[in-house]
Amino acid sequence: MLNLVLFGPPGAGKGTQSERLINAYELVHLSTGDIFRYNMKNDTELGKLAKSFIDKGQLVPDEVTINMLSSEVDKHPEAKGFIFDGFPRTKPQASALDALMTEKGTSITAMIALEVPEEELRVRLKERAISSGRSDDADPAIIQNRIDVYNAETAPVKDFYIAQNKFHGIDGVGSIDDITNRLTSVIDQL
Ligand code: AMP
Repeated sequence: MLNLVLFGPPGAGKGTQSERLINAYELVHLSTGDIFRYNMKNDTELGKLAKSFIDKGQLVPDEVTINMLSSEVDKHPEAKGFIFDGFPRTKPQASALDALMTEKGTSITAMIALEVPEEELRVRLKERAISSGRSDDADPAIIQNRIDVYNAETAPVKDFYIAQNKFHGIDGVGSIDDITNRLTSVIDQL
């Protein structure tokens, strides 16, 4: 199996690039943010709980997020591999993902990080707010909170994969096509 963690701060382009990679490599795309938003739209119990954190730019608690991710993986027993987008965002989530992959007789192949400077992220998120309708993209204070949470809790997750020799960073600035090409050249050498 090819199991990729696509990593990067909010606005790095994880969702856009995941869509391209799932077609190229026939992978299942699991975006925890998308799954939470789907639940929020359908007003499920999980959606209500997630909303109370997402609207403030905070992380949904690990236990809730890990359980949800695990049941999503279980829905795709036939998968050739997964792209995890927006997960793991904390070290406990990274450990839980390793345990889950081991349980399924597989492992994470690589983490690939899209590296984008903070100034560029703020510009992109502001632009995205116009088209996405995401309330967490609309407010500069919430955007800043998401970037701060990323720096404090999520950025250290990369050390987890560096220690396993699975970390690859690529330049996330440029045209969408250029960035896809950078990603595929890393993936094709895995
Ligand atoms: P995203 O679409 O990946 O930017 O996620 C939107 C929001 O969903 C985040 O700001 C978090 O509040 C929440 N979220 C998504 N993935 C996770 C995760 N792995 N752990 C905790 N919260 C998450």
